[in-house]
Amino acid sequence: MKLIPLPAYVDNYIWMLHDGQQALVVDPGDAEPVILALQREGVHLQGILVTHHHADHTAGVDRLRQVTGAPVFGPAHEPMPEPLQRLVGGEVVRLLGLEFQVLDVPGHTAGHIAYFCPSVDASPLLFCGDTLFSAGCGRLFEGTPEQMLASLDQLAALPDATRVCCTHEYTLSNLKFALEIEPGNAQLVAYNAHCQALRAQGQPTLPSTLALERQINPFLRSRQPTVVAAARRFDARGVDQAGTFATLREWKNQYR
Ligand code: ZN
Ligand code: FE
Repeated sequence: MKLIPLPAYVDNYIWMLHDGQQALVVDPGDAEPVILALQREGVHLQGILVTHHHADHTAGVDRLRQVTGAPVFGPAHEPMPEPLQRLVGGEVVRLLGLEFQVLDVPGHTAGHIAYFCPSVDASPLLFCGDTLFSAGCGRLFEGTPEQMLASLDQLAALPDATRVCCTHEYTLSNLKFALEIEPGNAQLVAYNAHCQALRAQGQPTLPSTLALERQINPFLRSRQPTVVAAARRFDARGVDQAGTFATLREWKNQYR
């Protein structure tokens, strides 16, 4: 299986997975990069997976469906380009001979879903849209901090080797914030240097892995004493009232 992040817009990735004949794509905010990649790779589009309703994830869906006839799968409880097969957590999508488990991960949007495949060439794969980013997480446009924390906890419980396919290349700016919170985290310092080098060469920093994210992502580490202490320095009352996660998210919203 080949896993390819197709750049779109300024910092989106449209993930393509293919076996040399059939392909799937996730969150096609633009049809053109997908159509070009299908031609270049010589593969047919078997299915389109969508995580949530934002235009940068859905704007290419209609044209791709028109051009390829591929079926569209997406969240049951969000406005979506019709027709599509509506999914809720616990359901399974079968594409490319693989089974993708649907996870409900509300927070960024109210009906956001993610797709998890336990084994693609022996390692698990997660398409998490705008819920989990490398070293960060999505903004809370429609959900509460409690919902987002529960969603991230659900993702963080997936296996170590899970390849995390996020939809945005936000890693460097997320790392800047993460280093503000945990400057003494050696793995974080090393990962930042690694990602700086990748971006200097124009390479994606993704996919990440869950093992790594658990070590460096402040939004998966909001119960760690170092992270709680940092959040208290930003807003001790916020930590007491809304919790560390909510305070971190608010801090990140303001952080430049
Ligand atoms: Zn979004
Ligand atoms: Fe997005």
